[in-house]
Amino acid sequence: MTIRPKTGIEEIVLYKAGDAKVAGRGDVLKLSSNENPYGAPDSAKAAFARAVHDLHRYPPTDHAELRAAIAEVHGLDPERIVCGAGSDEIITFLCQAYTQPGDEVIHTEHGFSMYAISARAAGATPVEVPERERKVDVDAILAGVTERTKLVFVANPGNPTATMIGGNETARLAAELPPHVLLVLDGAYSEYVEGFDGGASLTESRDNVVMTRTFSKMYGLGGLRIGWGYGPKDVIDNLNRVRGPFNLSQAQLAAAEAAVRDRDWAARCRADNTRMRDWLQHALAELGVPSDTSSANFILARFASPSEADDCEARLRGDGILVRKVGGYKLPQCLRITVGTEADCRRVAASVARFREQTA
Ligand SMILES: *Cc1c(COP(=O)(O)O)cnc(C)c1O
Repeated sequence: MTIRPKTGIEEIVLYKAGDAKVAGRGDVLKLSSNENPYGAPDSAKAAFARAVHDLHRYPPTDHAELRAAIAEVHGLDPERIVCGAGSDEIITFLCQAYTQPGDEVIHTEHGFSMYAISARAAGATPVEVPERERKVDVDAILAGVTERTKLVFVANPGNPTATMIGGNETARLAAELPPHVLLVLDGAYSEYVEGFDGGASLTESRDNVVMTRTFSKMYGLGGLRIGWGYGPKDVIDNLNRVRGPFNLSQAQLAAAEAAVRDRDWAARCRADNTRMRDWLQHALAELGVPSDTSSANFILARFASPSEADDCEARLRGDGILVRKVGGYKLPQCLRITVGTEADCRRVAASVARFREQTA
């Protein structure tokens, strides 16, 4: 083949999604993709069902109603919101609009893999900077900045680490980055942190910060693909220039609007997640499997070695439980486990206990 894609495309390492099936088993417990164990709220399902009557109509191009709902619930300016097919698409827009070949995009050592994928797809060069004990290190990020740096991606809480840095640290990062660099705060898990705005107020107060959010995690709509970004008006205008006019269907818009207005759902899911996350962390720690304090809907279980992590993953799989291996995130000694229902968490703990007995 002599026709080659543009520089960088062939270097893209395909995104690896969490496994969903085990051959020959019908009772699989999928804890590999940080999905909401309770699914989507009924309010969103009803809105989705109503959308079936308008499948022949093109959706609106301006997403005005969804933006208004998000703005109302989160206390934001609707003119500074952009909506996409998952926050993945917002990440793509940012790389498309703000980078070109020769430019650098910083992500952290254990950072979400879509940052590097989207950077390369735009022809830019991803640059990895170290974390400190599985936590984002602001000084390491600042040290990694060059004249070519255009974007810095920080997920807070992080995936797959589940750790978080404080508001002082993100504010310091935003303040100390040189003026040619845009800071992107990925708040995919921010709903799970009581009282945390995902970086919204920092975004409000600065002209170099963008926040991304998703309906895929707490709102249980990962299958539908809806996310949004919040930033300075000029940045949002540019993201809208690269956005396809019909990037979201009416079903996506309607379901997301219903979900974001469902404040009870968010409160219940947050409380339930906190309770079961604490239980699971404690239960696994008792079995000799520690994890860092989690601020998300998953924990990063840490084993003595990569082979022990692999063996435990195999035991869980044998018991019909799918968790996420994270060797690709430079954490081969760890497994990422989504916090499920109480029954789910008990099933995980029982399986890890069997693993311990079998290797004792
Ligand atoms: C899950 C996740 C997202 C959300 O992806 P969507 O495209 O909105 O489904 C974004 N960032 C991080 C760090 C995530 O873990």
